[in-house]
Parts: sequence; structure tokens; C-alpha cells
Amino acid sequence: MGRVYNIGIIKGDGIGPEIIEEAIRVLDAVCVKSNIHIKYEEFLLGGAAIDATGVPLPEETIKGVAKCDAVLFGAIGGPKWDNLERHLRPETGLLGLRKAMGTYANLRPATVYDELINASSLKPRIIEGVDLMVVRELTGGIYFGQPREILEDKAYNTMVYTKEEVKRIAKVAFDIAMKRDKKLCSVDKANVLEVSQFWRDIVIEMAKDYPEVELTHMYVDNAAMQLIRNPKQFDVILTGNIFGDILSDAASMLSGSIGLLPSASTGSGVGLFEPIHGSAPDIAGQGIANPIATIASASMMLRYALGENEAADKIDNAIKRVLKDGYRTGDLSAFDAKEVCATTEMGSLIADYASR
Ligand code: NAD
Repeated sequence: MGRVYNIGIIKGDGIGPEIIEEAIRVLDAVCVKSNIHIKYEEFLLGGAAIDATGVPLPEETIKGVAKCDAVLFGAIGGPKWDNLERHLRPETGLLGLRKAMGTYANLRPATVYDELINASSLKPRIIEGVDLMVVRELTGGIYFGQPREILEDKAYNTMVYTKEEVKRIAKVAFDIAMKRDKKLCSVDKANVLEVSQFWRDIVIEMAKDYPEVELTHMYVDNAAMQLIRNPKQFDVILTGNIFGDILSDAASMLSGSIGLLPSASTGSGVGLFEPIHGSAPDIAGQGIANPIATIASASMMLRYALGENEAADKIDNAIKRVLKDGYRTGDLSAFDAKEVCATTEMGSLIADYASR
């Protein structure tokens, strides 16, 4: 029967169901060839969960995903749920799921596909060969810090990091740097934030265990500028939750479309694999979303959670091949497109190439 894995599937809202369907199509195609058997189990999150159960993160989802080998997730959110109280909103469900799964490390690669060199808003000579990884802390920092409150004449959130939280995310980043070009840039705002100085001191201390890694530090405002000015200078970027959120979206534009980039959220338990984009309500239901970010997330799942590197390579190569052959979804139609495809066509083409 081959190797058997239990994979949790969370489709979510907006384009979530459309892009997840294509990722499953590709997984099925590649797994048959690789003697892998995947059992899928679906769970609710976000708006879909609110509509069905009244809450954005049902208890069954938390319990169910804990039993899986990995979870593949689309995206949540949309205008339908925007006016709910914050604790009932789809985004709160996702933050809660990440916390419950202990996925404190978010890995976001930003790779520039040669075939899409013209799709970036930056000049080809700036982005050619860019291959960087943002390691973002995901379950701490200002998104989770207490106290937090809106009062009548003021509102506040609190940026908190514990030593343990910084150490464990820094370890992930140092370990990844060791497997890549051994360059790590830790991004913070230590010139104004105490919590950032604390972060920096811990990272410097940890660097003693990784003498081969060249460690540098950069303030987040400069890092945003440097990502656009000369992205090739980066190998691995280590940063906190809110800075990583912003920097990785900026890094995503190096590759031309937010619809291309995958992510992996890993930590102490089951890993969560998802595109970096949201539920794109503006194009939901039209069959035009780019499924590549989700398909590439499925590849990261095979590689990082299941250790199925060969199957992951097949998917990555199929994505490159499809782009090389000139197939593009609408978001990339202006860039050397031979044929503009719908979401399902793009999924089918990648599945076909991946299974050869
Ligand atoms: P978004 O990423 O959903 O969309 C931004 C823009 O990119 C839109 O124009 C959209 O059409 C386009 N886009 C995104 N993914 C695409 C794809 N695969 N193919 C083609 N075009 C794509 O961000 P937003 O508009 O700020 O947020 C929409 C909703 O998604 C909100 O409710 C937000 O809270 C939610 N959101 C969810 C997640 C998540 O589930 N991880 C992340 C970010 C935003």
C-alpha cells in the first residue's frame, strides 16, 4: 500500500476551496506515482466554521488536526464576517489554531522563477536569482500580547517576547541557515523597543553555537528598504510576528504575485501549510485564482512534514515547467503568457506534469 499519511484539510473561505481542490488534485497525481497514500480529513475554520457552528475555531477542529500528520490550509476571512466582534471573527480563529497547534515558526520562502522575471515590479537585474527565506515568529509578539484593549479615548496592544520564545524561533532560523548559505539577518527595532533589544541580545548569545553562520542585524525599516533595493543580499531573515508579517508580504512581490508563494508553519506539533495570501474575496467564485501558492505549500508539506522530498521535487519541477511553457493565471497574464488558464486548468496542468 505504500506510505500512508493522514492529512487535515481546511478549505476556509473565499478562494480557499478553489485553490485547495487543485492542491489535492496535484497531491493525488504525484502520490500515486510515488507510492504514497494520503487519507484526507476535512475541518472547519474561519467564516465557514462561523456559518456552520457559530464560532471561528470549533473544538472538533483543534482536536482533529492534532491527530493528523500535517494540515493543508487555504485561507479564511471575507466581508461577510468583518463586522463581527473581534473574538468571533475568522482571523481570530486562525490565530487560535496556530497557537493551539504550537506552530511558532513560519517559514516563507521568496523565490523568483526565471520565467516570471518580468512579473516583478522590480528590475530583472535586481531580482534575478533571488532565493531567500523569511523565518517569522508566529505565536507571540504584539498579535498575542496582553494587555490589549480599546477604551473610549485610547487603545493599546502589547509586544511581549519571552526568552524561550526567542530562543526556539532563533534556533529554527540558525538551523535553516546552516542548510542554506549560512547567512542570517535578524530584523528588529532595537533602537526604540526594549523587547527588540531583548530579542537581539538572545540571538547574539545563540550565535555562539553556530560559529559558521554569519549573523547580522537590521532595523525593520531599513530591512523593508533593503528588500526592495538589493534583495539578493539576504539568505535567511529572522524576525518577530508583526515585522515578519509585513516583510514577507513585501518579499512576496519580488516574485511577481502573491498567488505564487507558499508557507510552512511548524513548531512543537503538527505542521500547518498554507499560501501566504488571504481569501481574495474580490475574485472568489470566479475560477481565476492562482493555485500555485497552495500547490507549492502542498510540496512544502511533503518535504518538511512527511520527508517525501522526491514527491516534493516533482511538484516544484512541474510548477517551473508549466510556467516555462507559458501557462499563466490571470494575475500573471501580462507576463510572457502563451495561454491564460483558469484555476482548474492550472491545477490539471501541474498535476499532469508532476505525474510524468
Ligand atoms: P488577499 O491576499 O486575500 O488579497 C490581496 C490581493 O491579492 C487581492 O487583490 C486578491 O485578489 C489578490 N490575490 C490573493 N491571492 C490570490 C491568488 N491566489 N490568485 C490571484 N490573486 C490573488 O488580502 P486581503 O484582500 O487583504 O484580505 C482578504 C481577506 O483575507 C480578509 O478577510 C483577510 O483578513 C483575509 N486574510 C486571510 C489570510 C489567511 O487566511 N492566512 C491572510 C491574509 C488575509
